[in-house]
Amino acid sequence: MKYEEILSKMTLEQKIALCSGKSFWSTKDFAELGIPSISLNDGPHGPRKQNQKSDHLGINSSVPATCFPTASALACSWDEALAREVGEALGEECLQEDTQVLLGPGVNIKRNPLCGRNFEYYSEDPYLAGKMAAGWIRGVQSKGVSASLKHFACNNAENHRMVSDSIVDARALHEIYLKPFEIAVKEGKPGTVMCAYNRINGTYCSDNQALLTGMLRDEWGFDGAVMTDWGAMNDRVRAFEAGLDLEMPNSRGHFDQEVLAAVRAGKLSEEAIDRSVLRLLKLIFETHEACRTGYHYDAKAHHALAHRAAAQSAMLLKNERGLLPLKPGCRIALVGALAETPRYQGAGSSRIQPTKLDSIVDGFRQAELDFQYYEGYSLEDGTDESRIAEAAAGARKSEVVVAVIGLTDAYESEGLDRESMELPPSHCRLVEQLAAANSNLVVLLVGGSPVAMPWAEKAKAVLNLYLSGQAGGLAAADLLTGKANPCGKLVETYPVQYQDAASAELFSQTPTQQVYAESLYVGYRYYDTAQVQPQYPFGYGLSYTTFQYNHLQLDTDSADGTVTVSCSVRNTGKRDGAEIVQLYVRAGDKSYYHPLQELKGFQKVELACGEEKTVTFRLEDSAFAHYDAVQKAWVTEAGAYEILVAASSRDVRLHGTVQRTGSKLAQKDQVPAWYFCPVGKPTPANFEALLGHPIPQPVSWEPGHYTMECSVYDLRDSLVGKQMLASMEQQIALGFGGKADYGNPQFKMVMETSAGTPFKNMSLLSGEQMSAEQLSGLLALANAGLPLPQQPQNG
Ligand code: BGC
Repeated sequence: MKYEEILSKMTLEQKIALCSGKSFWSTKDFAELGIPSISLNDGPHGPRKQNQKSDHLGINSSVPATCFPTASALACSWDEALAREVGEALGEECLQEDTQVLLGPGVNIKRNPLCGRNFEYYSEDPYLAGKMAAGWIRGVQSKGVSASLKHFACNNAENHRMVSDSIVDARALHEIYLKPFEIAVKEGKPGTVMCAYNRINGTYCSDNQALLTGMLRDEWGFDGAVMTDWGAMNDRVRAFEAGLDLEMPNSRGHFDQEVLAAVRAGKLSEEAIDRSVLRLLKLIFETHEACRTGYHYDAKAHHALAHRAAAQSAMLLKNERGLLPLKPGCRIALVGALAETPRYQGAGSSRIQPTKLDSIVDGFRQAELDFQYYEGYSLEDGTDESRIAEAAAGARKSEVVVAVIGLTDAYESEGLDRESMELPPSHCRLVEQLAAANSNLVVLLVGGSPVAMPWAEKAKAVLNLYLSGQAGGLAAADLLTGKANPCGKLVETYPVQYQDAASAELFSQTPTQQVYAESLYVGYRYYDTAQVQPQYPFGYGLSYTTFQYNHLQLDTDSADGTVTVSCSVRNTGKRDGAEIVQLYVRAGDKSYYHPLQELKGFQKVELACGEEKTVTFRLEDSAFAHYDAVQKAWVTEAGAYEILVAASSRDVRLHGTVQRTGSKLAQKDQVPAWYFCPVGKPTPANFEALLGHPIPQPVSWEPGHYTMECSVYDLRDSLVGKQMLASMEQQIALGFGGKADYGNPQFKMVMETSAGTPFKNMSLLSGEQMSAEQLSGLLALANAGLPLPQQPQNG
């Protein structure tokens, strides 16, 4: 076979070398062996190809690309076919830019509303996240480009993501955190998977054989290549054994030497390296061949797709007295700086340069609406009463007020978790004043994750756009005027307040550890089971029309046990529309603990006014199974299960019951009562009893005991740490006009990420600046309590 033949001609050194990047964004080529280089670029909502200076935080320029709605928005369409279409368009853009691997999608679960990168992920529900990702992957890969499913796994927080240890029990791991990866791997068949920075129960993902080989390859049948996240390699020798193929970007040969020595000393088998080389050769040749097309994509058509996707993804959360759609010809005050300077994508590695940008003001103009625009607030923080007063005066003169408010870049970014669920105070104040001036108030909400909405009762209508991509402004105008009918539904619960989340007290508490004590109770699984009233529930969203559900039918196939669920849905209102029909399974009283209900199917149905259609779901045995930590297997307990067909997790329209055969289990006694009846929050003792062992002590570092796992921040009590922090700040400030401005979100993100990078990973990301040897020298100085040696003065 071709790849084996090439392998047989490679020296050990060449094989090892192939397994790390050539540059920040490419693999190594070997002309003598005919191996080309391929390029890998971010993702996920548009390709980020950097032709000049490279970085992994979206700081330097990249070639223009279509900015589609971010995953958090696109998922609200609950439309796998749409995800596929977006994937196809992204694949075409990759072909034009000679990108063979697109770094996405991200399917990490939104465990907590404050994760700074929630905007890049799909949902709090693993089934939905996996399905949407699978559709997207199929689209990208239909063009011959490989997707890279990330970040595998349990990367559910941004603070300290490079060292943090996710302590998670076996059931939550399999049922919640691995599940979306499993679905995406089995159904989407991505060419590559990207391992996460963090540890899971003590083991770094890059070294994790159980994860990268046991789970991914042996159980799920993944046959592609695994790469690191950028700078996520922990121990290169262990990583080869674990099944990690490609290190990105590279350690400038440092790890290669270690690997070579390990093979020579008989500590690592050459077969482990050969396996990785074969997987990489397959990836490189297949994608390189497919991408040699000289393709040019149709930027106009992609903008139109971004527009349609944004319209399909927005959610109407409130619409009192049918304020929306707006009456033709009404006089509108359009308020809010975000209407003119849109926030349409997140900050960090996914940030791209759009081919075109249509703001909400542009959307209003193109729709020829009668409106006057007022800034209302500044995009910098701080409340400006004169701007608010001016907008309120405008509101008084208008028939309707449309206020655009939301999270600005300073509030949400990769590399940092949010500090609270609050919106910028000036936005809340603005809403209050506008509502006092004119009760016909529509709020357009922008942002990548849930926010506290104490102002919601002041608005008559709320339309949630999320981060809707470069054509989001056009979609907003279509939805407000009724040219498009809102059909998106929430893919994550909006709690009334942050404290309501099951993980509220646990999230990002210790820099080196995330304790997942709530186990399965993530999102609606907690709110619905613990009966915590949300602001807006999972699966919720209104339309300008209404839908009626009827005729539930359940049939169990006696041969294979598959349950066919069908019902009819009728559009009973006055407009054409689309309804997202959800299917939940409720296990009822069983011997194992479980959430009240879990999503096991969904379908979006387009219905013309008055039209009725039959919706059919098929539930296989896996829809009733849970992961048994003792047997290390999926098991179905015999008994009755309720089937709920619903318009949201809190709006069940039809229900029936099916009987399942299966095992009889006896587990109740071993699990603390909280997990059967989650009232309030779990205690550490509850979680320890569930785990069956104590929660490991989080690592903390003292002067004199610093290790390569420490970051510059961790060393800040030492002279070396202080000096490094100061010089890092100075250097980073140079890229921002010389000013260390923590109010500038990009500066803050780069600073936090750089100072939070452990020493062991610094040489992987610092380019030519520091070698591993220099870094361990600095660490030795810090441990000895010595200052940095003075740099010789020039001249
Ligand atoms: C991110 C990845 C991204 C990579 C390359 C990392 O910081 O976590 O999602 O693909 O950088 O930019």
